[in-house]
Parts: sequence; structure tokens; C-alpha cells
Amino acid sequence: MTWLELPHDAAYGLATLPYGVFSADDAPSQVGVRVGDQVLDLSEVAQALDHEHADVFAQPSLNALMELGAQRCREVRAWVRELFDDDTYRDLVGAHLRPVAGVRLHLPVEVADYVDFYASESHASNVGKIFRPDSPGLPPNWKHLPIGYHGRAGTVVVSGSDIVRPNGQRRPDADGVPPFGPSTTLDIECEVGFVVSGPTATGTSVRVSDARDHLFGVVLLNDWSARDIQAWEYVPLGPFLGKSFATSISAWVVPFEALAYAEVPLPGQDPPVLPYLQGQTDRDVFGLDLHLEVRLNGSLVSAPEFRDMYWSPAQMLTHLTVNGATLRTGDLFASGTVSGSSPETFGSLLERTWNGTAPLALADGTTRGFLEDGDVVTLTGWAPGRDGAQVTLGKVTGTVLPARRL
Ligand code: MN
Repeated sequence: MTWLELPHDAAYGLATLPYGVFSADDAPSQVGVRVGDQVLDLSEVAQALDHEHADVFAQPSLNALMELGAQRCREVRAWVRELFDDDTYRDLVGAHLRPVAGVRLHLPVEVADYVDFYASESHASNVGKIFRPDSPGLPPNWKHLPIGYHGRAGTVVVSGSDIVRPNGQRRPDADGVPPFGPSTTLDIECEVGFVVSGPTATGTSVRVSDARDHLFGVVLLNDWSARDIQAWEYVPLGPFLGKSFATSISAWVVPFEALAYAEVPLPGQDPPVLPYLQGQTDRDVFGLDLHLEVRLNGSLVSAPEFRDMYWSPAQMLTHLTVNGATLRTGDLFASGTVSGSSPETFGSLLERTWNGTAPLALADGTTRGFLEDGDVVTLTGWAPGRDGAQVTLGKVTGTVLPARRL
């Protein structure tokens, strides 16, 4: 039982307890945990209680906490939960709770490397049909390995950051000169990001059965995408400037442990994957029952279901290291756009409007093929927790600003 007075159905209830980095007034950024509409200053509480890992909370990122490793992170989460359950902590904790509306939230992780996968069969198939109408939707490798590309860690930004429309080249018309200017087909990708703890040694790889030890937590992630720039540049080396201008993540990182009750079997992999992508037990290869929502200027435009994804996060992490590439604490990998089989679950406007040919009607009476300046995109989500509780995934939002003139 908790001493905390929180409505049963409150967002960010005790089943979630996500970590973030905040600052208030002129104080330095440090680690907090969110509960309801409040954030608890873990650094102050840990110091007052002489917690053995108090130093990891007095940091401007979650990296030091993640460095403790999976077992100690589980203990820290149990301690945080105890703070809200044990009445003897009530006065101390109460004194260090602040309204989240009164603090600044910062990028929670110092992102090391960033990889984006392509794990939804519907998304990959839809994009294939739109970008390569004369070829099979899925490339021949797609069901044998989780396809991914290395993104730009330095342009991962926290929820609330404005997104400046990128400039770039587009596919030329008959005269052969590529037009240059602001992207005319700016898009979103509704994704789930996995924050990874390491390190691992060069030449080693993470087995599927050990992946959980490196999966620290989950963020919602918007992989902003300039489709016109992407379509012209991506052959043969893959996404580049059409993606690298910004990737937004939620300020709150939900510990992977909080999703234990959301683990579900994958929809099914056929043909069977190679042995290194198989687990040792049924639990090793898992999907996640995450319910996602995409809002554009407040209108619900899509409701993707993460359980539809073809590849398991554990398989993505294993594949990412199977060549001996190291992991570093703070690595981030994303699932790729989450799209189901029906248009209402497509996680990008490219698919949702079929490349702009079927515009969406918004609540304000306007329509959209792609994003316009001033548009606000918000991703939210939740997962089932223990005993009917809901785990709230960190919201990620961003506003499109006009392109800068060169
Ligand atoms: Mn993506």
C-alpha cells in the first residue's frame, strides 16, 4: 500500500515510475522520477538517506544510473517504489516532490550511438509499394534480419523541442537539375526507442537470451522524416539528411522492468530465423503490448499497436552486435515506424495519406498530406501493468517551424 494520494487511473502512476532529468530555478540538472503530475528529486532524497548510489542521481543524464548495470538498476527501482510505500518516508519524499509543470525537462540520456530499425512488416511493405512500385514490397533480406541504419546521435532532442523544417535536394524533373529548398513532404514516424546500457567488449555480441540485461528502458520516439530528400538520396547507402536533422524522444524513460506484464509473443516469424536470432526459451524472443496514439494538432490520426511488430527488440539488439560491434551505455535503438495492417494504425503520414494522395481531415476543418509549418505532433502510449494497472509511456511532442533561409 502506498501513502501517496493518487487517483487509481492517474497517468504515470506507481506502475510506471519513469526516470527523467530536470532542473528547477537555477539549480543544476539532475535525475528525478515522475509520479502523477509531480517529479521527485531523487538526488536530494538519496543524499538525505545516504543512499549508496546517491551520486548517480546528481547527474545531468541517466547514463551514470545505467552504468550500475541491470541488477543494481532493479534494486534502485525497488528502493524508489519503497519511498512511496513506506510511511516513514512520507515527510521526506513529500518535501522533495515538485509539480512537473514547474520544472524544465532535459534530454534524459547522453545518447551514444543511435540506430533505427525497420521492424514492422506493414510499414516496410507500404513504403516499398510507395517508393518502389515496380518491385516486391519487402526486400529479399527483410525476413532474415532486422534491417536498420545508423542515425545521428547528436540530433536526438527531447520532447518539446521545436523542429525546423529541413532544406535539401529533391529528385530532379526532366531538366535533370535537382530542386533545392525546404522539404515539401515533411513527415513523422511513430516509433518506440530502447535505451541501452553497456558496455560490451569489442568482438563480443549480446545473445538474445541476455538482451534484457542491456535494455534499460523505453521512450516514445518520433523519427521526423523529409520524404522528398529521402527519396532522392537513399539509393544506394540508405537514409541520410532526410532523417538526420532531428529525432525527438520523450523526456521520461520507462524502465524496461515496468513492461514485464506487457510482454507478448511475436505475431510469428516465417521462414524461421537463423539460430543466433532465436532465444533459448520461449520468453527470450518477445513482443510488447504497447498501445500508441499519434495526434496532429490535437486530432487523433493513428493508433498503432506495437504487438504487430515482426521483430523482437531482443533480436534487434542481438543483430546490432552480432558482428562484434560494441555497445556503449546510452546507446539508443528505435523500432522503426510502428504500422499495423489497417490504415488507422499506420504510423507515418506517408502511409496514412498514401504519399499525400488521400489527405487526412483534421478537427479544425483543414486537411493534411504532410506536415505544415506550425503543426504540432504528439505521440502517447500505454502498456498493461500488474493487476490491471496502466504503465504510461513518455509523451513526445514537437512543433514544426519554417525552414531557415540559406
Ligand atoms: Mn524511422
